[in-house]
Amino acid sequence: MVLQERKSAMTAIYPITSISQGNLNIWETCRRKYQYKFLEVLSLPEADLDRKKKLQLGSEFHLLMQQQQLGLDVSDLASSDERLQTWLAAFKDHPPVMIEGDRLCEHRRTLEISQEFLSDHHQNSDHLQGYFVLTAIYDLLILGDRQAQILDWKTHQVAIAKDTLIANWQTQLYLYLLAKTTNYAPEQLSMTYWFANTAESVVINYSQTDYERTGKKIQGILREIAQAQEYPTLKDVHSSDCKYCEFRDRCDRGEMLTKFTSNNLEDIPEIAI
Ligand code: SF4
Repeated sequence: MVLQERKSAMTAIYPITSISQGNLNIWETCRRKYQYKFLEVLSLPEADLDRKKKLQLGSEFHLLMQQQQLGLDVSDLASSDERLQTWLAAFKDHPPVMIEGDRLCEHRRTLEISQEFLSDHHQNSDHLQGYFVLTAIYDLLILGDRQAQILDWKTHQVAIAKDTLIANWQTQLYLYLLAKTTNYAPEQLSMTYWFANTAESVVINYSQTDYERTGKKIQGILREIAQAQEYPTLKDVHSSDCKYCEFRDRCDRGEMLTKFTSNNLEDIPEIAI
C-alpha cells in the first residue's frame, strides 16, 4: 500500500518545460530539429569561426547596452572592437524612439501554463503530461503610465523586413507574454527592433486581435508538444531550412550553404565581418 502510494505520487511529477521563442520557432520549422536541440540537448560545436565571432560580438554589444542603461562606464568594453564603438555611436546619434517610464534591462518574464489552457472542448487534459512555462528575456522593457515598450537590439548586417519580424515568435511571444502578465491593454503595447549596423528602427504595434490569435496558436503548439510521439524530419529534402540547419549531417541533408537567405531569424548571421 505504501509502495502504491509512492508510485502514484511519482507519476504525478511531470517535467517542466520552459518554452522560449526559440522553442516555438524551431517547433514550427522542424520537429526533428526540436527533438535534437531541446529533447536530446545535442550541442554541436560551432564549426563556422566567422559565425562564432559574429555571435560573440553580438553578445558583447548586448552586454554593453545593458551596462550603459545601468549608468556604468562602457568605454573599456567598447574600445575592444571598432564595431562596438560604431554601434554605440549609432545609438547615441540615432536612437530608437523610446517612451518615458521605468526601464528594465535584460528583464526575464515567465508565465506558467495551466492544464486548462491546453485543453479544449473536445479533449480531456488529463492525458496531457507536463507543465509549460513561457519565458522571454527582454533586452530593454519600458513600463510607462499608459504604454509599455519592448526594445530589442539586433546586429544583423541589414534591417530585417517588418513582415518577417512580425511572423517571428520573438515578436509574437514577447508581446503576448507582456499583455498576459501586466494590466496593459494589447493596444498599449509595442515592440521596437533597433538595428545597430544601420541605426534603423522597426516598430510593431499590438492589438487585441493579435493577442487572441497568438494565444490560440500557443495553445495549439503546446498541445502538440505535449502529445508528440514522433519527431519527423522535413519531407522536402531540398528545404532551405535543412540547408542552414546545424543537424544536416545527422539527417544526411548535404552541405550547408554559406549564403544566407533563410527566413529564420536564428539562421541569419548577426553581423557581417
Ligand atoms: S536537417 Fe532538415 S530535417 Fe534534419 S533537423 Fe535540420 S531541418 Fe530538420
